[in-house]
Amino acid sequence: MPTDLLQIVESTTLDTETISSRTAQIHANVLSKSRYIHVPNFTKIHPDDLALLFAEYDGWFFGGQVKETLGAIPLRFRLSKRMTSSGGKTARCTDRSTGRVWYEITASATMLFGCFTGEDHRPITNSGITCRDRLDALQRVMEHEVVHLIEMLLWGKSSCSQPRFHSITLRFFGHTQNRHTLITPKERAFVKFGIRPGAKVRFRLDGIEHTGVVNRVSKRATVLVEDHRGQRYSDGKLYRKFYVPVQMLETVGQGVD
Ligand SMILES: [Zn+2]
Repeated sequence: MPTDLLQIVESTTLDTETISSRTAQIHANVLSKSRYIHVPNFTKIHPDDLALLFAEYDGWFFGGQVKETLGAIPLRFRLSKRMTSSGGKTARCTDRSTGRVWYEITASATMLFGCFTGEDHRPITNSGITCRDRLDALQRVMEHEVVHLIEMLLWGKSSCSQPRFHSITLRFFGHTQNRHTLITPKERAFVKFGIRPGAKVRFRLDGIEHTGVVNRVSKRATVLVEDHRGQRYSDGKLYRKFYVPVQMLETVGQGVD
């Protein structure tokens, strides 16, 4: 019955010690139960690990009532390589032809594997909590996503910019913020290589040197190179577009400060 979950969600406030002992227990359980995650800074992960993590959180924090409330509705887990600015996502999905509904929790593999590489230029915090390792960061992602799922189940919609969400994540997990600050590929590109939109750059491709301007940075940088065979852009000039790994770019002149 959804009322049980509602009651738990509305009436629980955990103290700091309870939160840290439960999250430490989950950390240990994932390390011992997972077929892929054997060390805190794991280098392999499988969607099954997200299912495992979800089950741990549901069990330790919500008495298994999230799964209970889902009933026969499937909950699927995905790892994304394309999510490059947020750590996770929760969605309610509907199959257009059959009308069947399921929920889906996605975690960004790109974001996780980009952090705790030994080359981070700042501590990683997530939801206002400093994360000690990659698994710890993944736990913050799951804590955030599980609350999205709970709100969707109980109230039909969810928003992490609203007070209700903040209240739940604070009372259950001690989150003081609801924005992740994992290091995005964009931030890393700037700090490590000085690459940011507007920077003038040089790179070699198939033995040819190109000079252009960075238009966008995600996993790779989009570089526009003036070329008469290119496409016309809003400044009236013709450009060819290249997707280049940031480490292949060299900044030119004083384009970056
Ligand atoms: Zn959110």
